[in-house]
Amino acid sequence: MEHILMKLPYGYDALEPMISQETLHYHYDKHHAGYVAKLNTLIKETVFESKTLEEIIKGADGAIFNNASQVFNHDFFWKSLSNKSTNQSTYLTSKIDEKFGSLEGFKKEFIDSAIGLFGSGWVWLCLDEENQLTIVTTSNANTPLTTKLKPLMVCDVWEHAYYLDYQNLRADYLENFWKLVNWDFVSSNLENAS
Ligand code: MN
Repeated sequence: MEHILMKLPYGYDALEPMISQETLHYHYDKHHAGYVAKLNTLIKETVFESKTLEEIIKGADGAIFNNASQVFNHDFFWKSLSNKSTNQSTYLTSKIDEKFGSLEGFKKEFIDSAIGLFGSGWVWLCLDEENQLTIVTTSNANTPLTTKLKPLMVCDVWEHAYYLDYQNLRADYLENFWKLVNWDFVSSNLENAS
């Protein structure tokens, strides 16, 4: 089946000044759209042609895996952000407090994990098999979808996500990321995963 580039849930200027229009154009129009186009080309006349994105991610390797996974990871990233005011559910707040002591404790561990990730990749908040929150990083195109972890939110820490706005200052990008987190999305993912 033809994989479709998801529609951005906000305008190109909606995330300014934390993420500029210019970054969003490159990131979504070039990088994300590029993964979708490449995936559609690669799966032609293979066993993956009729599979869903999730089935491809769980069954493929090499370039097909990389492009499929990058489509899923970017879809999840755009949904993890919002230009609106959003709220943590009471349940999410209690799970964060239980695991990290406080929201500040959670942010610190998330940022430390992201800064500690060498090279390109992603930092995720997931729910593990014991129903506990956990922060994991994945390199390159890797994704928790191939594990038992259920993803709740993600931050893209490939350089293409921040370099135009922050150059090499990944930590500054991560500080501003919190101003954009879509807590409604994270809360509803937790609800569905529990
Ligand atoms: Mn990206």
